[in-house]
Amino acid sequence: MIAWASDRLEFIHCGQNFGRILCPSCGSEIDVQLWQEWMDQDYGENGFTLAQHSVQCCDAQHTLHELAYEWPQGFARSGVRATNPGVGKLSDEQLARFETILGCPVRVIYEHA
Ligand SMILES: [Zn+2]
Repeated sequence: MIAWASDRLEFIHCGQNFGRILCPSCGSEIDVQLWQEWMDQDYGENGFTLAQHSVQCCDAQHTLHELAYEWPQGFARSGVRATNPGVGKLSDEQLARFETILGCPVRVIYEHA
């Protein structure tokens, strides 16, 4: 396991597990090309800023981190990474233990290289 930290927000992607991107307010699919434009706009000298973007489906405002990714992806300044741990998906109990140890909410991202 490797723990890492960064001065700037990094995008943590799920690699080949990348699927649809959905609006967390109404569940409509967000166009990947539009999402890529938002990714480009959001990234500056200091990394991602997570500005609010107006989704076209229901006029809600969401940051890139708040969008519903299938599979999960997200943005972080730190993380813990395990390569080929051979344990399958983390259980709710294991996730809760990580969150207790780290003292913050944890988003699990399964990257398929
Ligand atoms: Zn929507």
